[in-house]
Order: sequence, then C-alpha cells, then structure tokens
Amino acid sequence: MTPPRNSTAARDIAYALHPYTDHKAHLQNGPLVINRGKGVRVYDDQGKEYIESVAGLWCASLGFDNERLVQAAAAQMRKLPFYHAFTAKSHEPLVDLSEMLIERAPAPMSKVFFANSGSEANDSAIKMIWYMNNAIGRPEKKKIIARLKGYHGITLAAASLTGLPANHKLFDLPLPGFHHVSTPHHYHNARPGESEEDFATRLAEEVEAKILAEGPETVAAFWAEPIMGAGGVILPPATYFPKIQAVLRKYDVLFVVDEVICGFWRTGNYWGSQTLGIQPDILVCAKALSASYLPISAVLVSETVFQGIAEGSSSIGTWGHGFTYSGHPVPAAVAIETLKIYDEADIGGHVRRVGPYMQQALRERFAGHPLVGEVRGTGLIAGVELVEDKAAARNFDPSRKVGARLSKLGEKHGVIMRAMTNDSMGFSPPLIITEAEIDEMLDRVGRALDELAVELR
Ligand code: PLP
Repeated sequence: MTPPRNSTAARDIAYALHPYTDHKAHLQNGPLVINRGKGVRVYDDQGKEYIESVAGLWCASLGFDNERLVQAAAAQMRKLPFYHAFTAKSHEPLVDLSEMLIERAPAPMSKVFFANSGSEANDSAIKMIWYMNNAIGRPEKKKIIARLKGYHGITLAAASLTGLPANHKLFDLPLPGFHHVSTPHHYHNARPGESEEDFATRLAEEVEAKILAEGPETVAAFWAEPIMGAGGVILPPATYFPKIQAVLRKYDVLFVVDEVICGFWRTGNYWGSQTLGIQPDILVCAKALSASYLPISAVLVSETVFQGIAEGSSSIGTWGHGFTYSGHPVPAAVAIETLKIYDEADIGGHVRRVGPYMQQALRERFAGHPLVGEVRGTGLIAGVELVEDKAAARNFDPSRKVGARLSKLGEKHGVIMRAMTNDSMGFSPPLIITEAEIDEMLDRVGRALDELAVELR
C-alpha cells in the first residue's frame, strides 16, 4: 500500500536509510512509525497499541515513560550539558557512574571506560587488549576467539567478533585474526545421545584445540555473551563457561564478557556472568545501563589490563583512544538514575518473581505448538524457535522468512516481536512487566502463531 503523500511513512521511504533492513523491500512496504510509549507499550502513528516483547532492541528495561529518567536528563542538561574526558578532564556524572559500576561488577574490576554503543565498547576492548599486549612486550598475542552466532555489534572489529553471516557477507569481514568456535546450542549441535555435560566438555576441548593450533602465544582473548541474543537466545549448558574459563586460564587468554543484553538483571542476576558462572577480565555493557533513554556503553577492565594500558600510555605520552562523547554527562546522569532505580525498586526481586512466570507460561503455551521446536530462556529473556519438523529439529528454509512473517502477524495482533537467527523469536520485555502483561503479551503471540500455522498449512 502506498503511503499518503508527505506522510511520515512516505518521507521515510524517500529519505531514510534504515539499519538492518532490506532496502528494496522497504521501498515497497514502508516503515512502521512508532510515535509514543507508555509502560511496556508503544503506539504507532495511527494510534494502534503494541506490547513491546523485546523492549525495543533488548533496551527499554524501565519501560517507555519513566519520568525520573527524563528529569535526570533535564537536570544534567541545565547544569552541564556537555563536557569531555580527554586529557584528564572530568565531571561528577562520569566519576559517580564509574564508581557505581565498579562496585556492582561481578568480578574484581579496576577502571571504567565509556563509549556510546555496544559496538564501540567492544571495539574499544579489542584495542585495549592489543595495546596492552604490545606495551608489555608480547606483540604476537593478538588473536581473538569468538563464537559462531555470537553478536557483538557492527563496527569493523566488533562485526569481526560477531559470528553471523549477514554481518560478514559483502562487507569483506571478518578481519584477519578473528576466529569462531561452535555455538553452545545443545538442541542443534549436540551429537546423538550426548549429554549437556559431555557437550560442554567437547566445546571446551574445541577451544583448547583452537588455542593450541594457533599457538597460545598468539591468542589474546575469548569473547562471549553469557546468553547469545541476536544469534537466537541460546543458553549454553551450565558447566560450559566454567570449563572454558579453566582452559583460558591455562593459556593466559583473557575472558571478555559482552553483557550488552544480559547485564542489569535480565537473566535474574545483576549480570549474566553470575547466572552462567563467568569471571571476566573485561566486561562490556550498554543498553539497560541507561534503560536506553540515551546512548551510553561501558568497558570495565581488571587491574592487570589497566596496568598494561597505563604502561603503554606512559611510554607514548598518551593513550590515543577515546570518543568525543566518552562519558558524556547527560547519558551518564541518566545511567546513574537508572542504576538507582534498579536498586530502589528492587528490579532484581521483580525479575526473580515474574521471570519464572514468563518462562513457565511460554513453555505451557508454546512448547507443544506444532510450529515450535524449542522454548528456552531464563529470567526475562527467552527464545521460541520455529521449526518445520519438530522430530528432526529442522528449521524452515530461510527463504520462507517464517520468523519475519510471524513478526508481521504479531503487529496485526498488537505485539512487536523480533525474529532472530533460525526463526527464533526473542523475548526480552521491559523488566517492569507484570504477570498480567505477560499473559496479555503471550495471548497476542499465540494468536499470531496460530494464524501463521493456518497460513503454512
Ligand atoms: N553486543 C551485544 C550482545 C548486542 O546484543 C549488541 C546489540 O544488540 C551489541 C553488542 C552492539 O550494540 P550497538 O548496537 O549498541 O552497537
């Protein structure tokens, strides 16, 4: 349907280049224009209401109308709307937020560096590691091991960490020195009869074999999301990370945890690292750090990493890295307020109550559905994977775009959904969602799923 002349939709088609969009299809179909938000809901330009089952992009942890965050931004804009942190300049929001993050870290951390996005934070962490290893006299130790289906962003180095074909094809990526090991998804990747424990052992052995094949003196770091998000909400076996961590320690390889989705109570603990048994050397976070009201991301580094960077910077005279907006006072003030709200409103306690409710409801409603192969998740993050053949755990042919079609049907039924890899629908609603809202959301998802089943018959 062609949108009316000069409407927002028509002007969008005329002028906007969207992230993650099939541009030719967009010229035909146009956008869904979202105008406002309230609680767990957003409203389009026609006034239609939707429950946001992914909080935007795993983002709006406190919903879409938190007045305290608005006030925190306004107050900071009045007091100091911009300052930078280059050449040892500082300001209170940067210092307060750094202190709060260090106090809350899942493992001993020494310093915090700020960026604007998850991608920039991951890129910064890569550069920190390379810089550190050059500074301490091991210039060979630069290779990085990440995972197939891992998602770490789209800047050149972060996209090289990412293990998804759409982020590499036609972009001439990944860059040299980035390696990918198997996805820890028992449902698809275990051998017949292999227990979760044996699967975890085998994947840890794969990491060890990779390190030995490349030469331990050349491998700098291992990168992982506690639960893979964009790859399809994939939970590893319980002992997977502890087993890998033991391998990394043996060869002096750093563990970098990407908490961009899992951080700040998403998995039922403050950090996904706590849920999955990870002791990171570097931690990257973003999104729920500021409830996504303003862009800000952070890299927390251990004392060892900091010492390496400090060594290099003193030999050169500066650490030649940093963004104009690193630690920008306004997003930093919003992030401080966000972390205070998490504490004061006991968001952790809330997620521990409603998370199991959502997990059980998803399984009760959808595990037996003819189109659903696996329901997985913990806390307030879940994946519902669509399959063509349940017994064989076989997905639909990607050309049928079954997940995208379900998302479209969801819009009709008043729920915004996102299809990840393998037609896995990701669920990551605002952390403030209630049990009644979970029921309402899943009623709408169920209606969309049933309609899809009829279409596919
Ligand atoms: N890391 C993870 C785990 C993510 O899910 C994302 C984005 O979804 C990123 C990094 C990249 O963040 P950004 O889109 O802010 O660059």
